[in-house]
Amino acid sequence: MNKINIKEIYNILLDKYGPQGWWPVRRDAKFCVSTNRYEIVVGAILTQNTAWTNVEKAVDNLIILGLMDPKVIMDIDQDDLANAIRSSGYYNQKAKKLKILTRYLMEGNFLQSENIPERDDLLKLWGIGEETVDSILLYAYGVPVFVIDAYTRRIFERLGILSGGEQYEVIAGVIADSIEEDPEVYKEFHALIVRHGKEHCRKTPDCITCILKDFCLY
Ligand code: SF4
Repeated sequence: MNKINIKEIYNILLDKYGPQGWWPVRRDAKFCVSTNRYEIVVGAILTQNTAWTNVEKAVDNLIILGLMDPKVIMDIDQDDLANAIRSSGYYNQKAKKLKILTRYLMEGNFLQSENIPERDDLLKLWGIGEETVDSILLYAYGVPVFVIDAYTRRIFERLGILSGGEQYEVIAGVIADSIEEDPEVYKEFHALIVRHGKEHCRKTPDCITCILKDFCLY
């Protein structure tokens, strides 16, 4: 069996699923792409350890209550914010993270200007890890950093790209060496990996109709 490379995985997944239109939001029961930087930042926190459907409910609630505004989030009582995002799970922690991150972005003028926060500075904030930081940098700021999540690790390990246990930055380096450093490609590829991970390459995979099965070592 020929070992597949990362660029081939991208092309096959794009052929199969088409453009995914991330960052996704829900408006009036329709899915569309969010270009609102702060909404993407909020979504990146809320999606930690939960399904996107739960995030949508919390985002909708923030909008309905008039809370999707960084100035409001900075001022609101943390318990009230937690109640508003309850559907996203871990709501007390997420409320705290949202307030800390929002204050950092506002004080650094990162929401009101074209200033881009430094990755290392974001990583110093409480409760915000590499996957979340890279989601924010890629989707809210267009920085070409690849978002590596559990789906990426699982699919790349099963396809023999990774051997398992590699550090986050090692995986990022492998990907950066394999595809052009284009934020639009990175956005699309991550979204395609998530789609494939949900539809086929689950913990117990559905391999029979998988488009990658001819290249898979699993
Ligand atoms: S063949 Fe199975 S294990 Fe391999 S990528 Fe497809 S779904 Fe995942």
